[in-house]
Amino acid sequence: MAEANANLLKLPGSYLFAEIAKRVRAFTQAHPDADIIRLGIGDVTQPLCPAVIQAMRDAVDEMARAETFKGYGPDYGYAFLVDAIRAGDYAPLGVDLAFDEVFISDGSKCDVANFQELFSAESRVAVTDPVYPVYVDTNAMAGRAGELTPQGRWQGLVYLPCHAENGFVPALPERPVDIIYLCYPNNPTGTTLTRGQLQQWVDYARDTGAVILYDAAYRAYITRAGIPRSIYEIAGADKVAVEFCSFSKTAGFTGTRCAYTVVPHAVAVGDGSGGKVELNALWKRRQSTKFNGVAYPVQRGAAAVYTPQGRAQTQATVAYYMENARIIRDALAARGVTVFGGVDAPYIWMRTPAGLDSWAFFDYLLESLHIVGTPGAGFGPSGEGYFRLTAFNTLALTRRAAERFAKLP
Ligand SMILES: *Cc1c(COP(=O)(O)O)cnc(C)c1O
Repeated sequence: MAEANANLLKLPGSYLFAEIAKRVRAFTQAHPDADIIRLGIGDVTQPLCPAVIQAMRDAVDEMARAETFKGYGPDYGYAFLVDAIRAGDYAPLGVDLAFDEVFISDGSKCDVANFQELFSAESRVAVTDPVYPVYVDTNAMAGRAGELTPQGRWQGLVYLPCHAENGFVPALPERPVDIIYLCYPNNPTGTTLTRGQLQQWVDYARDTGAVILYDAAYRAYITRAGIPRSIYEIAGADKVAVEFCSFSKTAGFTGTRCAYTVVPHAVAVGDGSGGKVELNALWKRRQSTKFNGVAYPVQRGAAAVYTPQGRAQTQATVAYYMENARIIRDALAARGVTVFGGVDAPYIWMRTPAGLDSWAFFDYLLESLHIVGTPGAGFGPSGEGYFRLTAFNTLALTRRAAERFAKLP
């Protein structure tokens, strides 16, 4: 009989969002008239902007005529989109990327999930705690995480705790690691690193030969000057870092699907026989074998984000969400709640009041204020005692939720 991949059998069920849905369902069945406001949404809610819609319509029309029809596209994305990214996202930061260092894909989740395939099975992996679960689960599936303890920690992973006491700045690992996942602005904490703090990680990677996998999915939400929008703003990062960016949160593409990954030629790893091999070459090989590109109309839509209209329209939507974030932050702070994030990210990470644990506060918020959020403990052990709220609901419902926060204990 065929046997299952034992590594997959070690994975716990996707408990967090299933458990939230279960508790909300039970509450609404018991209280059908309760006006529930969802501040747990990890997805955008505003429509694609007009510039993107027009570009996609035009591209669909091209697909309708033999003279302009497109079949398979280039393996790593159309030149019009790669060049728009280089000129629009990197040149303004003083970062000069070669054409073949940018890879278009249908999502950062899959890229960040797939990228670990390029490393040896023995590679030691470091993740922040709390964490975006994809980094952890994909390494567990590949057999790099060892066994799961009853406390929910994988024995084979190196966890980098992030909490109020260290300002959500992970300390450099105490034991050697080969792969480091960093996500800034962070999901779930909404916090960022300064240039100096990120420089320490780049220097560490350069000194030790580690590779940083840098998830910048929320870079469009940075409002403060001086916060790095790309790890390549940091000296030496082009030798040690791969960067994942997505149109999902930047331009509302969660359902449309387009992203890109930057793999500089200078990032190299050992080849097992004393030499070195570029990750860029390995990613090309992997993508050309397992991936067949993003739909032409979708790539046209993504390129429209870089037009003057597209830029203004997508920035307006980001500003709309960030106004929601400000409203939530202010309402919580007015009640004396300790809040983090929400300034350079659409996530607000709050300390649970009155010493409640994450799930007890979830129940309180649902039952007393009819607001749904996400327990911090669901993102890792260091998330206990914290709670995540998101800025992705409508302005009207966010305002209504903020009024309810006035009743917090
Ligand atoms: C939403 C999100 C992404 C983007 O994923 P897509 O597959 O591009 O939609 C990547 N990383 C993090 C941490 C996210 O929250």
